[in-house]
Amino acid sequence: MSIDIEIGTSLSNEDAAHFAAKTEAITSAMQRVRERHAAYSWVWTDEIRCRGCNASIDIPLLASTNASADKAFQAHQSAQLDALLAAGGSRRPESSTGPS
Ligand SMILES: [Zn+2]
Repeated sequence: MSIDIEIGTSLSNEDAAHFAAKTEAITSAMQRVRERHAAYSWVWTDEIRCRGCNASIDIPLLASTNASADKAFQAHQSAQLDALLAAGGSRRPESSTGPS
């Protein structure tokens, strides 16, 4: 899993605060993902299942090794993290009601 955040060479205080908040959100989201999607089980030689959310993840049959299962599971965690960040990262002010 890789999260790339571009940091400019000269951050203003506001940017730094925003960046810190963003980093914190990512860290806590990552923690939640790791708790909720902590491990997987082999279902078949070409399928693993997340023990947390029960998602079925396909492994290429010719590459059904623990290494590719780990990789596929990491992709699963990464996707969950993205979803979590997408859901929590777009908080809108309470006051904005109606179309703008
Ligand atoms: Zn899962």
